[in-house]
Amino acid sequence: MANKLSIVVPCYNEQEVLPQSLPVLKQVLLTLIDQCQVSSDSQLVFVDDGSVDQTWSLIEQASAQDPNVSGIKLSRNFGHQGALLAGLSATQDAQLVVSIDADLQDDPQVILEMVQKFAEGAQIVYAVRNNRATDSRFKRGTAELFYKLMNWLGVKMIPDAADFRLMSQQAVQVLLSYPERNLFLRGLVPLVGFSSAKVYFQRQERAAGESKYPLRKMLRLAMDGITSFSIAPIKLIMGLGFSIVLVAFLLLLYTIVQKIRGEVVTGWSSLMISIWALGGVQLICISVIGEYVGKIFSEVKQRPRFTIEKNLYNRKKK
Ligand code: UDP
Ligand code: MG
Repeated sequence: MANKLSIVVPCYNEQEVLPQSLPVLKQVLLTLIDQCQVSSDSQLVFVDDGSVDQTWSLIEQASAQDPNVSGIKLSRNFGHQGALLAGLSATQDAQLVVSIDADLQDDPQVILEMVQKFAEGAQIVYAVRNNRATDSRFKRGTAELFYKLMNWLGVKMIPDAADFRLMSQQAVQVLLSYPERNLFLRGLVPLVGFSSAKVYFQRQERAAGESKYPLRKMLRLAMDGITSFSIAPIKLIMGLGFSIVLVAFLLLLYTIVQKIRGEVVTGWSSLMISIWALGGVQLICISVIGEYVGKIFSEVKQRPRFTIEKNLYNRKKK
């Protein structure tokens, strides 16, 4: 029998876009079923990440009408990464799991290619976007900077691959065994290992609605990415501390020499500048350490990473 596929689609206030993306995704799923690439009980699994609009009722309706559509409702907004994880952990009877955004920015047709790569033996298939034309110049620039920074910090990441990917159930199981609360799946998935492949696609404009990733959330995700995978910033602080101490020592020597020469120390401004500069450096350093302490704090509490309120997945199965 063919493998079961579940396509996990996190949705947060996506009532505008769901009526457009559902038929497109359904069509892709039907094509795969018709070609006998996946089993006929394969599913589209919409994960409602605590939406406050009509998203859940749309999902419920579609699920009642269509045996290939189901949904999971989270008890509140857990964020994109939490919603993805909820979807992955609820669909453990599927041999293949694809995750894709709800807004048609990730081209659903690429799933056909992904399944092909899986058939050829890849356990993880990354969808890499080969253009960033739909992004603003700011987003393009910051994204590039971020990937460079991660690379420099020694974090293995696939550049320009977001959360659009296929994973085998075996790979999903390994991913689920990572217990961290501060989720940055893009960094975790490459750690899973196994043979992987890439497919390329053109990222589209959002089909409808607005981005659910404002700058604030984007920065948070980037910060999580850096501090969950690298302690280089803490090491940098040490380097910075030593260099500042060195500069201070040289200044001290200079002042002593000046004093011996009998020149009056008039440096009010240099004093003020160094106080402010050092104060700033210290605050930054403390905040970097605070970021890690905060991470430890949220990890040790072991709070659930998501809470499922309703699960329509496999409801028809006995
Ligand atoms: N999303 C989510 N929870 C959130 C924010 C976003 O489940 O708290 C979903 C959203 O519905 C979409 C995907 O994550 O399917 C990507 O979000 P979006 O398209 O808004 O981000 P962008 O493409 O603008 O980076
Ligand atoms: Mg989007």
